Amino acid sequence: MASTFLASDVTPVNGWKLENCKWGTLPVTYYEDSSLSTADTPSVGLAALAWNDVPSLLTITQVSSQSNNNDIVVSSINDASKSWDGQTVYSCSPSGFVTPVSITLNDYQLNLEINVNQLAAGYQDLAMSVAGHEMGHAFGLDHSQVQQSLMWYSSTRWFNYRIFVPVVDDVRALAGVYGWAQDTSFSAEVYPPNSAPCSSLPCYPPYYLTIPSPSPTFTETFVQSALPSSHLALMFAYVTPITLHRFHMGWEKYSNDPTDTLNRYATLELDDDGAKFVSVTNGGATTTIQTFVGSNQISASSSYFLELLVECCSELKATAFAFMGSPFTSNGGEVYLGNFDSGSGIIDGWTSANYFDTSVWTGSSDPASNYQVNEFWNFQSGPKQPPPSPGGGGGGGSVAQGTEILTPNGNIAVQNLNVGDTVISIDPFTQQSYHSTIRRINIVTVDNMLIFHTATGLPLRVDINPRLRFNAIHNGLAGLWSTVLLVPGDSLYQSGYGWTTITRVDRIYGGLHTYYDLHLDPLHDYIANGYADCPCKT
Ligand SMILES: [Zn+2]
Repeated sequence: MASTFLASDVTPVNGWKLENCKWGTLPVTYYEDSSLSTADTPSVGLAALAWNDVPSLLTITQVSSQSNNNDIVVSSINDASKSWDGQTVYSCSPSGFVTPVSITLNDYQLNLEINVNQLAAGYQDLAMSVAGHEMGHAFGLDHSQVQQSLMWYSSTRWFNYRIFVPVVDDVRALAGVYGWAQDTSFSAEVYPPNSAPCSSLPCYPPYYLTIPSPSPTFTETFVQSALPSSHLALMFAYVTPITLHRFHMGWEKYSNDPTDTLNRYATLELDDDGAKFVSVTNGGATTTIQTFVGSNQISASSSYFLELLVECCSELKATAFAFMGSPFTSNGGEVYLGNFDSGSGIIDGWTSANYFDTSVWTGSSDPASNYQVNEFWNFQSGPKQPPPSPGGGGGGGSVAQGTEILTPNGNIAVQNLNVGDTVISIDPFTQQSYHSTIRRINIVTVDNMLIFHTATGLPLRVDINPRLRFNAIHNGLAGLWSTVLLVPGDSLYQSGYGWTTITRVDRIYGGLHTYYDLHLDPLHDYIANGYADCPCKT
């Protein structure tokens, strides 16, 4: 297998975008309102610590008394009528955020999401993901287009990928606003084993690599542990070298000796001659990808943030960024080192990878590292089974790509519609039709599908989402019903026909399916594949 890092493979740097508002005075302070629930309090604290671990100039500190100077106030509600699990409300003046920015966690939805995903535990982990996400908004970050990021809009970031701390895309976003900083020193007490966020799910606490002096050939820290049979395993590291030689992290097979390249499964190495991704399959074939040699060497005075993703069990992906920030200043930039995608079906080492480790060369024969990698952070994540997804984003009926939407110009496939377009909508109970304007379109990719077949029309494809509701007749009662409750014998409203009987309902778990949430003004059912689809969720 031969592959190279290609510039065209680069994850878009605009994987995130900015809200165009920022804090002028640092650190940012937050106050825990008396309404903040006992369940949410530790998650909020951990979320703040996690953002403090990001090597940007922004830091956040808690204050214990309420005043007009509190930058952020965090509260809880328990409200079934609100469809969101977390919300950030703020206004922005020309000089930046107006205090206070309010963050609210909705314990009702957080509990519901845990239940929908059939998890007995994990509330604190999910709440940390949501609290951290909302803090990102409160710092000025908008949603990311990268699903494996804290600023991905949906809690699928946690249900599918167990992301509850800022990862590379979020770090890039925050540093894009506030600048890179020297290592902000991870707190040793953050995320201790057996407490949130590693209490209930496959997850490893952070590992710290300290270089002893005098040192042997290499120094390392490792854990003997199989890779989880999960969607995804992820490690990342923040490295601040004085001189750098062969920083390495990843998974080994059979042995934790990082000098034995044939024992590697998937490792990412930052060396004085570039970044390498090394993969060795059981058959002994070695893949080494080197991004650059010679002219564009790793700079010893810079800092680096590396991320390695392994997607179980047939595909291997690695992405590496270097953040060549000048310590203590805000003028650092970033350099994309490269990525690698094995393609599917060639990976046979997953089950034999049984060590994860990190190391540096410290001997004197090679260019020796005399720096310390005192902050190394990683976790592995992912549920063992694809969970039902909580699905589409706040408000809006989710219809699958390819669904025809009725407009004054005839039917148009939903993926070809734009914000500002007009659609024909209808009230199925009065049969009155309207023109509505699309105000927002959310695009969601989830791993499930619900297909309604009817006596008279086309199949209608939506995501399996209890919060998605249709105007329908269920058990003889007309009203707004959760789509997951509808069964054969119930009815959907078909434009130009009337109520039509559902003859079959298919559910698909697995695969990747893209859905579109249309947000309309005024709010009426739009016509999707001929059916009245309510752009509403609870
Ligand atoms: Zn958000």
